[in-house]
Amino acid sequence: MATTSRFPGFYKISVDERRALIGNATGADPHDIARALEAGGLDAETADKFVENVLGTYGLPYGVALNVRVNGRDYVVPMVVEEPSVVAAASNAAKMIREGGGFIAESDPPLMVAQVQLVGVGDRRAAAERLLAAKNELLAIADAAVPGLVERGGGARELEVRSLGDDDEGMLVVHVLVDCRDAMGANLVNGVAERVAPRLAEIAGGRVGLRILSNLCDRRCVRVHCYVPASVLATDDMNGSAVIDGIVNASRFAELDPYRAATHNKGIMNGVDAVTIATGNDWRAVEAGAHAFAARSGRYAPLATWRRAPNDVLAGRIELPMSLGTVGGTLRVHPAARLSLRLLGVGNAQELATIAASVGLASNLAAVRALATDGIQRGHMALHARSVAVAAGAVGDEVERVATMIVEARDITLDAAREALTVTRVPRSDREVSRFERLVDVDGE
Ligand code: NAD
Repeated sequence: MATTSRFPGFYKISVDERRALIGNATGADPHDIARALEAGGLDAETADKFVENVLGTYGLPYGVALNVRVNGRDYVVPMVVEEPSVVAAASNAAKMIREGGGFIAESDPPLMVAQVQLVGVGDRRAAAERLLAAKNELLAIADAAVPGLVERGGGARELEVRSLGDDDEGMLVVHVLVDCRDAMGANLVNGVAERVAPRLAEIAGGRVGLRILSNLCDRRCVRVHCYVPASVLATDDMNGSAVIDGIVNASRFAELDPYRAATHNKGIMNGVDAVTIATGNDWRAVEAGAHAFAARSGRYAPLATWRRAPNDVLAGRIELPMSLGTVGGTLRVHPAARLSLRLLGVGNAQELATIAASVGLASNLAAVRALATDGIQRGHMALHARSVAVAAGAVGDEVERVATMIVEARDITLDAAREALTVTRVPRSDREVSRFERLVDVDGE
């Protein structure tokens, strides 16, 4: 756990200075931080052990969300994401939420579902009864597949039987609910599914079909809520109470329209995925679970909603399934993933899940507030301008100068960035006067 997650002016200091500050707050050695993040934290030789046909590795920016307080604890939250403004937006919104007491989060026990499909079952109702009557025997077989997990307090917990399709198909699907403790659990659960399947088929009088986990892990949900005082939501042009109205409108739009809900949820996943990736977890699994859960009513819906609460306060809540691990998978071997868990200082997978969901809720607040006030482009393009400046060849201090010029000119294009770069590099006497010189005093004269 970090001593604080508030670092005013963090964005203005150098990368080395940031590492020193974060090391100080989390107890991590800044040299360890630097080492773990060199070349994206993964060398080609290690990468070759992860996946197949490796040629090298692919780097992504590793930043930290600040101001995050969940259940009264401060966290410095690692985020890996290529999109400008995601980390800044999450940090800004977390600061507003902090003013209302921070995120209040709870998580279900880490239950994953092993699915075993049985086909060619004759009397499905009778077969289901026989399976449920043999529950204790079947859970014991499941436990035998994961002795290490059982030793750590996890293991098979419940058995459910579902009939799918019509009688002619004779399809039964058995769910074994497995408590995966601090593992994401896919391999564990797949092992359980394969181990129990033959006995299930024997009892049901059918044949074994598929045996695999479900990524719709709706028994492993996280719920987070927060309160934000109107005063911190105000902008230059709108008072806080009007911003609350705008955000509630945005929420209602997403609740009523799947086209809007998809984009609303994308903004949430900006935060959730970035934390998931930074901690070495399987973001495809989290994505699949989140979207399936969002569609559980039959209509795709927003994962987070916002309402006005008494005393000019905005209240937000998010609920989504979260299959994150703090052990297993590639976590052990990826130095940057290990560093992330160290910086977070989380005790278990459930705690990590509450943080990822909180960052998702913060990302959503940032997006709906921007949409309800200035529009998304203003802040987003200002940050995007930095990437455009880099793409034009700007280095070091030039990046900020070029970005500022093209933002001021309201022309965030590669051509404009190249022109701005020329202005910063070539003395005025050696070139034609540029339009940028009328907008920004680049030479500080
Ligand atoms: P894993 O296979 O590494 O299993 C976890 C291991 O950690 C077990 O051996 C367990 O005994 C041990 N362990 C140590 N301490 C533990 C603790 N406190 N709590 C729980 N277990 C503890 O990993 P996994 O989590 O079973 O599987 C995750 C991997 O599976 C991910 O890499 C994921 O990408 C992959 N995967 C995903 C899918 C899917 O989502 N559809 C399918 C297949 C594989």
